[in-house]
Amino acid sequence: MIRFEDLVDKVRSYSPEADLELLRRAYVFSAREHKGQLRHSGEPYLIHPLEVANLLADMRLDVVAVAAGLLHDVVEDTLTTMDRVRELFGPEVAHVVEGVTKLSSLPFSSKEAQQAENFRRMFLAMVDDIRVILVKLADRLHNMRTLGHVPDDKRERIARETLDIYAPIAHRLGMSKVKNELEELAFKALEPQVFEDLRDKVEQRRRATQGLIEELRETMLAKLAEAQVPVLLIDGRIKRLYSIYLKLKRQRIDLDQVYDLVALRVITTSVRDCYAVLGIVHQTWSPVPDRIKDFIAMPRPNGYQSLHTSVISDRGLPFEIQIRSEEMHRIAEEGIAAHWKYKEGRIGAQRDEQYFKWLRQLLEWQQEVRDPHEFIANLKIDLYPEEIYCFTPGGELKELPRDASVVDFAYAVHTDVGHRCVGGRVNGKMVPLRHQLRNGDIVEILTQSGHKPSRDWLTFVTTSRARNKIRHFIQLEEKTRSVELGRKLFEKEARRYDVNPKNIPAEAWQRVSSESGSQRTDDLLAAVGWGKLTARLLLGKLVPNEQLQEKPPDGAFVAAVRKVLRPRAGGEDKIRVRGADDLLVFRAKCCNPIRGEKIVGYITRGKGVSVHSASCRNVTNLLYDPERRIEVEWDTGEDTHAPYTVRLSIQVEDRRGMLAAISSQVSAINTNIRTMEATTDQEQGYIEMTLEIQDVKHLDKVIRLVKALPGVLTVERTSSAAERAS
Ligand code: MN
Repeated sequence: MIRFEDLVDKVRSYSPEADLELLRRAYVFSAREHKGQLRHSGEPYLIHPLEVANLLADMRLDVVAVAAGLLHDVVEDTLTTMDRVRELFGPEVAHVVEGVTKLSSLPFSSKEAQQAENFRRMFLAMVDDIRVILVKLADRLHNMRTLGHVPDDKRERIARETLDIYAPIAHRLGMSKVKNELEELAFKALEPQVFEDLRDKVEQRRRATQGLIEELRETMLAKLAEAQVPVLLIDGRIKRLYSIYLKLKRQRIDLDQVYDLVALRVITTSVRDCYAVLGIVHQTWSPVPDRIKDFIAMPRPNGYQSLHTSVISDRGLPFEIQIRSEEMHRIAEEGIAAHWKYKEGRIGAQRDEQYFKWLRQLLEWQQEVRDPHEFIANLKIDLYPEEIYCFTPGGELKELPRDASVVDFAYAVHTDVGHRCVGGRVNGKMVPLRHQLRNGDIVEILTQSGHKPSRDWLTFVTTSRARNKIRHFIQLEEKTRSVELGRKLFEKEARRYDVNPKNIPAEAWQRVSSESGSQRTDDLLAAVGWGKLTARLLLGKLVPNEQLQEKPPDGAFVAAVRKVLRPRAGGEDKIRVRGADDLLVFRAKCCNPIRGEKIVGYITRGKGVSVHSASCRNVTNLLYDPERRIEVEWDTGEDTHAPYTVRLSIQVEDRRGMLAAISSQVSAINTNIRTMEATTDQEQGYIEMTLEIQDVKHLDKVIRLVKALPGVLTVERTSSAAERAS
């Protein structure tokens, strides 16, 4: 465990002028405030802020950041107020502490709303002062290192959030050391068995290739010495487990087919020497075509610079070589932290284009997103760490996430180009709009005036910019149509009660719409059009009850509408819609939510409420209209119900007896198997099975047991073909 005096010595060693008194006061204050509190491990709480401050000192940050590290939890976890921190430690420290403090006392409609608001605040604070995120990352890193003591469900949530949000932020800031450790720890926490199996296999491979690496290293050293190119370090490195895992999953390949498992890294002194090394490497071994990447001439947006190439060794095995200068290496490891510490003056007050560009863009694109689900979904996309680079025919560079489509590119050029695009030409060839772009593609967008975005685009676009623009456009159109439909329904209903809609005074409309919290009366009609509000209910609010005289229904249209809105006996699967009993409810086919799972409802036109799993892709892709979302919950009644049919896809090693082992495991816990099918390709097997499942707990148990079987690589719940959400 770190002692405070060690921390002081560390800060003094790189910053002799530092205000160590501030640090001391922060330490004493934090110790007093956290007194008596314990961590999950049973240790005194103070260890945590002390370790966080130590991580910040390892990044060689200034005293403000280190002091904020010591104080980062006092407002959230003790009775201390923000004002008190400001008064004692000044506005700078207070700003950083405020940026990392989560709001928990304010009333939020849901956990997600709260989470979204906290992220939004953190990002805003980060734009003013980057130290906010550095403290937050150090906090998260220490929490991840000590995750073993945390209860299971909380552990999973923290690890998931780390993978989704914090590791990508570290990546965006170029802090690969922090990012890598966060990913490995989160991977280990989420998939302990897979992690261990993979670690063992990689270790075997490493031992097997150890000799080869030594040979390559020796050859390289000799060649470089001969050419008099200075070398500071050559080391062989093994790819990280999490990135191997992603690669295996993405390409459905075996570990033996990952040929960049091992890489040699050459550190030299200058840019010129980097290219000299590359030349010598290519003279010594044959390069693999298309594998040469020059991130020196074209740095990654997070500042990463290096030369990458893959060559074929004398033994016929391909391997990767990374070449960079010492300075590039430091920036590759520490990113923004390395950058700040060599600058004169205070950190935080300065801005750096390279790191802040994406942050500002992110905030700009997210500004109009009010819905918390949307906000978090977009955030995950925008932070997505793998990017590709494409060019306009004029040579302008566009950075996009992996798997971006032609439509994403079009929106990256301009909103109007996006709205009006009808096709694209990639490297001179015509391609459809959903075509996925590759690194280095030259993309020409074909547009047609008057063309409009299609809702289908939402199923394949990957950038939040494109998503938001398309949604916004469709929402406006939808709204107009809903208002029209709502008006028709309302006028029919009014006539049924012998009311002339024209005679309803404007004040009544005003009153009802402000009661329902909206600005315009159109919103009321739109709500009727969506089926969120019945025309009868609206009429009752606008017109005094004694003036309403029901006439018998007059025609098929009204009858049809009433039938849709009439409750069906019992509803389906006992799902309750909060605040409305007269809506028809059905489970969406795309994600087939099962009892106990987190669900969301979506109002479909004329069909009632479709209930999706909260994690369903269609919910994030197709539910472009937050206003049509409605809260639903499983009825907690004790009634028995028919089991759900759930499909599982299981990836296994191709060994004998896998099918039998899985089916007996599943049957052993009283689970009916409806179908089971196996295929193999290369050295892996794939098993598809459909099961009868009672609820989400039952499903979790099945998945856990199957996962624990030796030879099982992954188990995933799969859905049937995607269904449109409207
Ligand atoms: Mn903390």
